[in-house]
Amino acid sequence: MQEIIRFEDMNLSDEIKHAVKDMGFDEATKIQAQSIPLILEGKDVIGHSQTGTGKTAAFSIPSIEKIDKDMLGKVQVLILCPTRELAIQACDEIKKFTKYLPKIKAVPIYGGQAIERQITALKNRPQIVVGTPGRVMDHMRRKTLKLDCLKAIILDEADEMLSMGFREDIETILKDVPEERQTILFSATMSKEIMDITKKFQKNPELIKITRQQITVPSIEQYYFEVPRGKKNEVLSRLLDVYNPTRSMVFCNTKKQVDELVEELNVRGYAASGLHGDMKQTERTRIMNAFRNAKIDILVATDVAARGIDIDDIDAVFNYDIPQDMEYYVHRIGRTGRIGKEGKAFTFVCGRQQIYQLRDIENFTKAKIVLKAIPSSTEVIETKSRKLISEIKKTIEKGSLEKYNKIIDELLEDYSSLDISTALIKLIFAKENSYEPTKSDDALFENEGNRIKAEKVKMSNAQKKRSVQAKRQQHNSSARKNVVRADESNMDKISINLGRRQKVSAAHILGAVAGESGLPGKSFGRIEILDTCTIVSVPHEHTKEILAAMKGCKIMGYKTITRKI
Ligand code: ADP
Ligand code: MG
Repeated sequence: MQEIIRFEDMNLSDEIKHAVKDMGFDEATKIQAQSIPLILEGKDVIGHSQTGTGKTAAFSIPSIEKIDKDMLGKVQVLILCPTRELAIQACDEIKKFTKYLPKIKAVPIYGGQAIERQITALKNRPQIVVGTPGRVMDHMRRKTLKLDCLKAIILDEADEMLSMGFREDIETILKDVPEERQTILFSATMSKEIMDITKKFQKNPELIKITRQQITVPSIEQYYFEVPRGKKNEVLSRLLDVYNPTRSMVFCNTKKQVDELVEELNVRGYAASGLHGDMKQTERTRIMNAFRNAKIDILVATDVAARGIDIDDIDAVFNYDIPQDMEYYVHRIGRTGRIGKEGKAFTFVCGRQQIYQLRDIENFTKAKIVLKAIPSSTEVIETKSRKLISEIKKTIEKGSLEKYNKIIDELLEDYSSLDISTALIKLIFAKENSYEPTKSDDALFENEGNRIKAEKVKMSNAQKKRSVQAKRQQHNSSARKNVVRADESNMDKISINLGRRQKVSAAHILGAVAGESGLPGKSFGRIEILDTCTIVSVPHEHTKEILAAMKGCKIMGYKTITRKI
């Protein structure tokens, strides 16, 4: 067991210690405790640990400490991040660390913001630049970003950068910066591609690996529910009412589903908003702020849209749709139970095939995901009543109710106090939440649990395999039937590098292209599955956006490349 290390006892300047204290950090996380001293020593480092373990501080704190005070006019640290959101977030955190170091400046540069503004910011002589690879290259080419005095380059979230297709850009940048620099790489997952980069560009790197056992956050309780088809909304409402999370996130696999669910939740009286990959930045920021300031209780998002969101104090994560990719599960539930806080993760499982998917996730994460019964309508009503009772008690105890006496007196002339109280409670329930659990679903929920359990026992492994295959074929043909209707005359063809060999089905492909692009499934044409790739007919006017949306998309856990043919 490694001992606990406090920032106070680390070899850091008083200014940094003071700032870290202001941020409420006391103990260093494992990845921080191990990487900060090595980076301070000047070593190249590979840091491998799960999302939410504090990697930003792990590389930012020592980088700030190493800035040469005699070269304050030069960029000395370059941090590459996969998205503008992550770049902004990392830069904001660095600004907090440099709170008591007024001469040290950090600037974020990313695509989507006017380049002139960034040129002005860069002229202001920052020592730290945090940016996305594309925009960094752009500035290097324009010579508005000069890296001749660079002392350290950091690849943050290297796995995300690679899966988003930034490999070439990263290599170009790494080749272009001074030989005599420190190269640091952080990632939540490791792959051969990442190791290739480290071999090519790092010098005797030290690998710091915080293993999954150590990092599975024990404070996340993980449950799943067997949900009958078409009943996800009912189940979600019941769980929201019974567990009553202050702040929660709900994950769906498609943008369309996000929209539909937000609408449904709003109708049911919940303060929910959706987050979309294709939303404008200002809109995203507005929604994120509303969520942060508790104006929204529930944020509904797709995996891509939720990338890089960093909000603590999320009590519960709901997997409304089971994640398409096992790694997404880890990312999703990592939103709750952040450092030292408790959290719950609920996954909806719909049908037998998804149970197998859930088992795969369990094997992959080495976590136990426990089956739980869907709360009954009685339980929901009881929880709500208890909440109301305690609120009424508190209000009575607080006193100062005299000013309402007149209303009560008037009512008492015609009605009993019991009648009046009952009517008031009805009013409160109606106002607070227009939704009531559907009693008739109770029997269905119980049956569903029993049915799936019975089937699970019956099926041998071989049977399991066959049934999954049969399902796939069924999917295949039904998806085809649905899509052939589209008019092929105005179509382009795109190819995705997954085919029969990867056991991909038309449903998978259609799910991915429709989900990522946000276009309805019926707008796609023929889906032709070949040995190693799949050809999809796509509406000509949307080809460009589909290709952009598919960049970095994973299907069945495979990283994909999509091209126009
Ligand atoms: P990662 O990059 O590993 O996903 P982040 O650097 O984004 O993780 O950190 C996750 C959250 O934990 C942030 O809100 C950060 O402020 C907080 N955090 C980081 N280090 C500590 C610490 N030592 N103590 C308390 N909170 C921390
Ligand atoms: Mg990070």
